[in-house]
Amino acid sequence: MNRKHFLKSLALLPLAGTAMKLNELNKMTAPFNSTEKMPVLFLGHGSPMNAIEENEFVTGFRNIGKTITKPNAIICVSAHWETKGTFVTAMEKPTTIHDFGGFPQALFDVQYPAPGSPDLARETKALIRKTEIGLDDKWGLDHGAWSVIKHLYPNADVPVIQLSLDYSQPPQYHYDLARELKSLRDKGVLIIGSGNMVHNLGLVAWDKLNADAYGFDWAIEASEKMKSFILNGDHQSLINFKSQGKAFDLAIPSPEHYLPLLYSLAMKEENEKISLFNDKAVAGALTMTSVKIDKA
Ligand code: ZN
Repeated sequence: MNRKHFLKSLALLPLAGTAMKLNELNKMTAPFNSTEKMPVLFLGHGSPMNAIEENEFVTGFRNIGKTITKPNAIICVSAHWETKGTFVTAMEKPTTIHDFGGFPQALFDVQYPAPGSPDLARETKALIRKTEIGLDDKWGLDHGAWSVIKHLYPNADVPVIQLSLDYSQPPQYHYDLARELKSLRDKGVLIIGSGNMVHNLGLVAWDKLNADAYGFDWAIEASEKMKSFILNGDHQSLINFKSQGKAFDLAIPSPEHYLPLLYSLAMKEENEKISLFNDKAVAGALTMTSVKIDKA
C-alpha cells in the first residue's frame, strides 16, 4: 500500500467505525421485533457421534430445520447443563464445549462458532419472574446444544444462548418457568429442548448400538405412554413422571435428559399441533423421539 492509499484508508476508518456501531445497534434490537410465532422443538440428541455421523436421525434434524423460518436466535435447554439456580449464557462468543470422553478426535475437533446474544440473555432474565436468573459468562455451548443445532444451522449463523437446568428443583418448577418464556416465540426465537425421553445409560445394550430400532420392553412401554401423553396434551402426567410406574422409573433414572421435554411442551398453545419425528429406540435403553410444536 502506498502512502496515498494508506491515508485514504485512514480517512475511511471513522466512517467504518460508525457503520459498525449502527450494525451493532441493529443486532441489539432486531432479534426482538415481532415475528410470526416460531415453532418449538424437543430434540432427542442421543450419542455425541450424531454430530459427525450421517444417519437417519441427522437427516431428521436437517429436514426439520428446513421446515422452520430462520430464527433470529435460539434458546437451548440442554440436558448437559445442570446448575444450582438457573442461568443463561450471556457471552458474545460462546465456546464449543466437548463435554464427553472416549470419542474419536474428529468429534473433539468440531467447532460450532455460533455467536451468543447477550441481549436475548438479558431479555430472558427480565421475562422470568419465578426466580432470579443468573447471567453466565463461563459456560458456552455443550454437546447437547451444538451436536444437534449444527445440523439445523450448519453455517452457525444464528445466535444461540443456553438456559440451565436447576437440579434442585422439582419437575413442575421447570414447566412453570418455561411458560414465562412463551412470548419469545413471537420475537423470532426458536426454543429447543435437547435431551432424550428414554435415557438409561446404565442399561444401554452396547452390542445393539448399531442395530436398527432396538428397545427393551420397558423402554418401548415408557416411550409409548410418553407419546400418548404428548399427543393428548396431558402435560400433567408427564410432569408427574415419578408416579408413572416401573417403566418410567427405568426410562428416567435421573431427570436431566427428560426435563428439556417439559420446557418444550410448556411453550405449546392450546390450538397448536404437535408432531413427532426421529421416533425410534436405539441400543435398548434410549429413544431418539423428537417433537415439533407448530401452529395448526
Ligand atoms: Zn445427552
